Amino acid sequence: MSPRKSSKVKGPLSVCVIAVGDELLSGFKTNTNRAWIGRRLGELGIDVVAGRLVSDDVDAIATAIADGLAQCQVVIVSGGLGPTSDDVTRAGLAKFAKVGLARDVHAEAQLRARFEQINRPIKDSHLIQVDLPVGSTAIANSVGSAPGVKMNINDHVVFLVPGPPREMQAVMEAGVVPDLVRRRSTFVVTKSLRTALLPETTVAEMLEAWIAKNEQIQIAYLPSAAEVVVRLSAHGADNTVVSNVVDAAAEDVREILGDAVVGDAGQSLAQSVVSLLTAAGRTVAIAESLTGGMIAAAMTDIPGASAVVRGGVVSYSTESKHDVLGVEAALLEAHGPVHSGVAREMAEGVRERFHADFGIATTGVAGPTEQDGKPVGTLHLAIASATSEVDVTVHLRGDRTTIRRQSVVHALDLLRRTILGLPPGPEQIPFWHG
Ligand code: ATP
Repeated sequence: MSPRKSSKVKGPLSVCVIAVGDELLSGFKTNTNRAWIGRRLGELGIDVVAGRLVSDDVDAIATAIADGLAQCQVVIVSGGLGPTSDDVTRAGLAKFAKVGLARDVHAEAQLRARFEQINRPIKDSHLIQVDLPVGSTAIANSVGSAPGVKMNINDHVVFLVPGPPREMQAVMEAGVVPDLVRRRSTFVVTKSLRTALLPETTVAEMLEAWIAKNEQIQIAYLPSAAEVVVRLSAHGADNTVVSNVVDAAAEDVREILGDAVVGDAGQSLAQSVVSLLTAAGRTVAIAESLTGGMIAAAMTDIPGASAVVRGGVVSYSTESKHDVLGVEAALLEAHGPVHSGVAREMAEGVRERFHADFGIATTGVAGPTEQDGKPVGTLHLAIASATSEVDVTVHLRGDRTTIRRQSVVHALDLLRRTILGLPPGPEQIPFWHG
């Protein structure tokens, strides 16, 4: 089970990020500020729940701030704080708050000192940057001239931060992050489980009834190739109470999702498989056609893999399946390389050659074109051991990269299931031998 992550960081604090700039809308610049702010606040356990792009226009900015505050307690606006006529974010906030702009004398003194320091004459246009909406305060910008701005609106708050990423980050760290940390009033506890081979919609359907009865739990589904991480979180004033709630929730979810749960989300599927093999004192050898070494790479990426991975063969050509792994020439002749029997013989061949407890093999069609009449997405997997063999056929969808990545998850999960004595997983059509 995943170690709980607990911190006194996140209450029901919701954040909206507005990025201002015609160049962002036109696609000439990428909105990296939004990504940075999302990640930085995510580290603090604070979710950015909405984001928006608006043009350099006073009314558009005022409207976006109003919309943001209707949805979130915190609105962060990036860009448009500079000295030129198209920098109108301060005016947008003033318009929203129905106040004027007034020179902030303290910020002015700092700006003058900065210009003196860099030995440049200050112009009136520079001073526009310290004309702030009445009722707001400046946030120091240690790497540029435009200060950030903070304005409390009842129990909500609007921050303006400069557009240039380095300046945005400096102002965020100087004045926004510390303020948000102070606002966080409750503990949040999260726990995540990793599932394999269930589509995201199936996971959601399986948990639907449980979610309806457990409103204190927030649930998020984070899908990647053939895997879904289910993140459970809850918040409250008492850390122990919240931790217990999330622990109980994770147990429920684990039971509902059954053997599709591979482990905790901090552990990759390959890590789980290496741990299982280590605990069982068993070894594996890998023969890969369409996965081209990706399974071996995933497993040998894990520290300690040398105790359980005996070796592998990338057997890409049809001849090598016969020459290196001993697949019968007649079988290849009759059916071509994409065939369940071929996968089985590859698994047996690699197991014998590397003296491993398990041999695992993949053959299939990653695309973009079909092969020997077999459609793109056909995957044959086989696992051989001293006492039994299983091969499964899977029909995958997606482009070449997706199909290969999904094939790795299918192969590793079949190995996990075999070690645990479980039947093959969803969407794997099995044939047992021996
Ligand atoms: P300046 O004083 O440079 O005018 P400013 O606060 O007015 O600063 P903008 O004029 O909106 O900021 O943007 C200045 C530059 O900062 C842009 O040309 C772009 O390179 C970068 N920038 C602005 N917004 C973003 C964003 N959301 N993501 C990444 N870069 C951005």
